[in-house]
Amino acid sequence: MTALAAARFGYRCHVFTPEDDAPAAQVTEHCTTADWFDHPALDRFGAACDVVTYEFENIPAGVAEYVAQQVPVFPDASVLATCQDRIAEKRFLAATDAPTARWQSIANEAGLVRAVASIGRPAVLKSARLGYDGKGQTAIGADTTLSHAWSEMTDEAETAAVLEAWVDFTLEISVIVARSEAGEIATYVPVENQHEDHILRRTIAPAAIAPDVAAKADDLARRIAVKLDLVGVLAVEMFVQSDGHVLINELAPRPHNSGHWTIDACTCSQFEQCVRAIAGLPLGPTDRHADAVMENLLGSEVEHWQELAADPQARLHLYGKREARPGRKMGHVTRLSPMR
Ligand code: AMP
Repeated sequence: MTALAAARFGYRCHVFTPEDDAPAAQVTEHCTTADWFDHPALDRFGAACDVVTYEFENIPAGVAEYVAQQVPVFPDASVLATCQDRIAEKRFLAATDAPTARWQSIANEAGLVRAVASIGRPAVLKSARLGYDGKGQTAIGADTTLSHAWSEMTDEAETAAVLEAWVDFTLEISVIVARSEAGEIATYVPVENQHEDHILRRTIAPAAIAPDVAAKADDLARRIAVKLDLVGVLAVEMFVQSDGHVLINELAPRPHNSGHWTIDACTCSQFEQCVRAIAGLPLGPTDRHADAVMENLLGSEVEHWQELAADPQARLHLYGKREARPGRKMGHVTRLSPMR
């Protein structure tokens, strides 16, 4: 989707991916398929590009650093390093005065026992790294055996983790913020995100929140972008509590699933905004011409694509992924309605 936005400006994209048959390669002129640590391939890739960005925060930060020796990489590799490690991210948020759930870092089972004693139950144990869509997460309920929770976590991830207090939120929202090298900032309206089994099910734009809550969310996203010295696009995921308090859940330094609605409902999508930010163009307008509901097509749901294609209200996006594994994001549908 970023490559499609770039093509509208006449830019030619080159994808680097360790994955065979990467969807982006279907719409780009060049694709290098190689391991993240294949330095000759990274060298050739860097030499072929004027600017590089990434669309997944679990790329090793060292790879972004390596490529940045040759060609500008935006957002900076340090932003990637902060956002791919929950401990680094939470420390950064604390230093930014951006509120989060109470948390503690944990290195071993004894640390988990201490953290649960101090934070209490219910809580959520999350691996520090390589977690997304609920992977590497375990709920700690009243009856959870901590040794079991710890071994489950360390089975699939590394040993560093965080324990977070359970947040009794009324709504999950996100703000997509873009920032240019010149320091220009643009945000999209806060949207509501509904998850099922930890995976984003639907995004509703705009979120039904009071104007002061929306203003607080917008301000937090802007402050985080400035403090990170962001160049590019960042999603800030937040919890809204019943008293209107806003807590940051996590950051993703790239165009985000909760911003896909902007393709159909805004003059300038999050993807175009990303291209503008990294290419040194002025940022585009972020206002919307319609309200929108975006639904993900997960796994076999994509098989209904013909019905959706026949629905005049549905803007259908299919990603060209070959295998519809359960829970895999295969595409999305956006439905527009007049602005409230
Ligand atoms: P994450 O991978 O951290 O975004 O978590 C995935 C989803 O799990 C979130 O979108 C929430 O729905 C839920 N979740 C994560 N952390 C908490 C928490 N501390 N309290 C309540 N729900 C949570």
